[in-house]
Amino acid sequence: MIPDSFLPLFPAADKSSPLILAGPCAAESAGQTLDTARGLKRAGISIFRAGVWKPRTKPGGFEGMGAPALAWLAEVKAETGMATATEVANARHLAEAVEAGVDGVWIGARTSANPFAVQEIADAIALLPESIRESLTVLVKNPVNPDIELWIGALQRLARAGVRRLGAIHRGFSSYGKSIYRNPPLWRIPIELHRRIPALPLICDPSHIGGSRDLIAPLTQQALDMRFDGLIIESHCNPDQALSDAAQQITPAQISQILSGLEKPDIANTSTENLEALRREIDSIDDDLLELLARRMKVAREIGRLKHSLRMPVVQPGRYRSLIESRSESADRLGIAPEFIKTVLEAIHEESVRQQINLR
Ligand code: PEP
Ligand code: MN
Repeated sequence: MIPDSFLPLFPAADKSSPLILAGPCAAESAGQTLDTARGLKRAGISIFRAGVWKPRTKPGGFEGMGAPALAWLAEVKAETGMATATEVANARHLAEAVEAGVDGVWIGARTSANPFAVQEIADAIALLPESIRESLTVLVKNPVNPDIELWIGALQRLARAGVRRLGAIHRGFSSYGKSIYRNPPLWRIPIELHRRIPALPLICDPSHIGGSRDLIAPLTQQALDMRFDGLIIESHCNPDQALSDAAQQITPAQISQILSGLEKPDIANTSTENLEALRREIDSIDDDLLELLARRMKVAREIGRLKHSLRMPVVQPGRYRSLIESRSESADRLGIAPEFIKTVLEAIHEESVRQQINLR
């Protein structure tokens, strides 16, 4: 369904690794767009991003300047030689962006959650002249909800429409409640995407994951350490005055500073001499963990049989609460994050409940 190889993204831009797209959340005016692009060009960036149509949660906010802003992207390309990219959410956006000469488009997180919209864009791409479709880069942001199948489904729709320069952008997932992130990254999802489609280029969007300026540098380093192929970072010549996403935009000079401070892991280095012994140790600890879990499940099933004979309900909320509390305290003492242990225990508890219900 998804090809096992893809063509390089943004063929006209230089092939630096990691691939970096940067630019404002939105193209707000010709001046702001050009000013930001010039700064980014000086910072060595070769792919310019800017939103032209902005999906906003509530009506009445700044919804982007629309099609007239595409001319500013064309100016950026003509003046700086940078490749350009913008977000498209329907067939009309796609046609107008391609007509204006953009090198790439991305499908936003709200749109990739909607198969009708993705299919409409895919159908519009399928109708493009072959030479344009061949050179167009298409990036698919993860859907706002953490549903990897929906993300893969969107990628499949585009691959079937003939997109060969296809990539995925990880921008974190909507959540309810408090988090230091605007959109918690749930890294296991992009890792699973990479496992399922190894050749697909993966780009990290620290701006929308973090939602604040101080998180861009650490998230960027983390993405490189996790072998992402590229980054998309929001940058504005005057971030405090930005009409959307002001809190997470940084200046081109700040991007330059972040990039020069990054430690690039040496991907070519596959020497595993010192790693092997440690990996064997991890393998054997994992075996122990599995055995312990199996033992725990066996006891849980015995408890389940007992509860059943006593006509007690499977879930006992008081017991569950006190278990989570006491284990979180112990974890803290052992230097393990209580939040992490809570997630692990929740998964274990869910499985024991499932096994106890299966006995009935
Ligand atoms: C954006 O890139 O500016 C954007 C709107 O992102 P997302 O779709 O990830 O919210
Ligand atoms: Mn934005």
